[in-house]
Amino acid sequence: MSKREDARDHDRDPLDPVAKVPAEIPAGLDRRKFIMRSAVIGAAAVMNGCTRSETEQKAPPPAAEAAPANAPPANAPSVPLSADLNVVKQEKGPVLTTVDEFYKVGPGPSSSHTIGPMRITYDFYQQAAKLPADKLDKATKLQVNLFGSLSATGKGHGTERAALAGLVGKEPATVDPKFLDSLRDKPDQVFPVKLGNKSIDVSLKDVIYDATKGDFKHPNTMTVKLLAGNDVLLEQEYYSVGGGFIEWKGYTPPKKNAPKYPFATMKELRSHADTNKTTIAKIMLANEMSISGRSEAEVNAFVDKIINAMIATVKSGLSMPEDDVLPGPIKLHSKAASVYKRAMDDKFQADRGIGTLSAFALAASEENGRGHLVITAPTGGSAGVMPALVYGLSEVRKVDRQKIRDGMLAAAAIGYLCKHHATLSAAEGGCQAEIGVASSMAAALTATAYGADSLVVENAAESALEHHLGMTCDPVAGYVQVPCIERCAFGAVKAWTAYAIASNEIASRHRVGFDETVIALAQTAKEMNSKYKETSEAGLALSVVLC
Ligand code: SF4
Repeated sequence: MSKREDARDHDRDPLDPVAKVPAEIPAGLDRRKFIMRSAVIGAAAVMNGCTRSETEQKAPPPAAEAAPANAPPANAPSVPLSADLNVVKQEKGPVLTTVDEFYKVGPGPSSSHTIGPMRITYDFYQQAAKLPADKLDKATKLQVNLFGSLSATGKGHGTERAALAGLVGKEPATVDPKFLDSLRDKPDQVFPVKLGNKSIDVSLKDVIYDATKGDFKHPNTMTVKLLAGNDVLLEQEYYSVGGGFIEWKGYTPPKKNAPKYPFATMKELRSHADTNKTTIAKIMLANEMSISGRSEAEVNAFVDKIINAMIATVKSGLSMPEDDVLPGPIKLHSKAASVYKRAMDDKFQADRGIGTLSAFALAASEENGRGHLVITAPTGGSAGVMPALVYGLSEVRKVDRQKIRDGMLAAAAIGYLCKHHATLSAAEGGCQAEIGVASSMAAALTATAYGADSLVVENAAESALEHHLGMTCDPVAGYVQVPCIERCAFGAVKAWTAYAIASNEIASRHRVGFDETVIALAQTAKEMNSKYKETSEAGLALSVVLC
């Protein structure tokens, strides 16, 4: 290879899916599959520093990949994300997410189906309030239309209640969950929305469950309109892109300062930490300060707020009566308090570690199922995983607060990288994108809190993510309860297992890099049958019959 070619090769984004695709497609091969396979091989080779021979790159896939003649139609690919979305564009360039964007407090049960829609309608309400008085005087109606996954599973998530709450001026971080409960218990309530001199009555009837399938830019699409009779005074198309993040048609991301240590991969992040003889957490703190312009004390104050909220959600869940019944048609009985009680019983002392950790995760996740306040880490459905580890480290193991702050920053780095190159949205990537990422974050949190080297932090995070790959999202009856609540407990325990393995193996012998697993996450998300992406059309949602 010439020097110029070599330089060009280094300029490539190692996670660019087309970076290593050979020009020729071997005869008899499906072009799409070949490109995907070659891209994965290429990206992995760039990150590993290993190269595959030309013959290997062009080799046909193993026989198992070839579809038999009588095979059912290929998996229905999921709705491709529009290239206009910022969440897609930002795959290029350094990570610019900050902790206050990432860790959000809001009502459960789903960051994309409750927190996102509430932020969206609250945003629209604020935009509408800025219209000229003569326009507002004509307004007669506010209307929300939910599409795609928001329509398919929104009823089970209470999306209509969240959307109405935003329209009447409630924000996710401060809304009283009792307000949302009251919408569920008295669905006919009507609320006046003040827009200029005009007052418009809104109710749940103004939130319409619209088409579940269509040519949407994102599976979680919704529109909000201000109408004067049949005339549209203001309309906006929005997307709830996962983890409570929102975008809209024509969205331009806010301008941010450059990070002190730019990175787009774990390899780059770890290289900053190792070159500067510091930790991933310290690199993340420096970036947080340079991107947001906040001081260290301000970043710590925000992270403390999130740690305290996580501890509170576990405490609140544990304090609920044993055998409480969660809202919804499943009539699911809570079990956090019972699992905790048994774990603390001296007769079962050997099970105490796993028992208490599971109970903490169940407690926070059941709070999510109740629609109470939870923290996106990275989402509502996975809201039991990180709090379980935070609670265990802080309240049981009494780990120093600064170590837990560091862990929260390292965990955020994991979430950012998964968001940057793959997804945090179950509607886009299944449960691997929620519980898988949460477990990976929790493994990084634990390793960091215990002072592990950056490679051990990476290995722990990788291991936890690896063992969730392929996990589908199939909530029974569209409620974030089955399998979600127990799945949080498993995610928490797997995080601990990942840390236990990573801190005991010889770190340099860990065979799989975090970046490679993120590629696999993105690839699996793309190719997963759309039925398994928060539609409640398959899996447990189909096989479990409610009586
Ligand atoms: S199955 Fe997983 S991804 Fe789907 S709603 Fe439940 S926790 Fe979220």
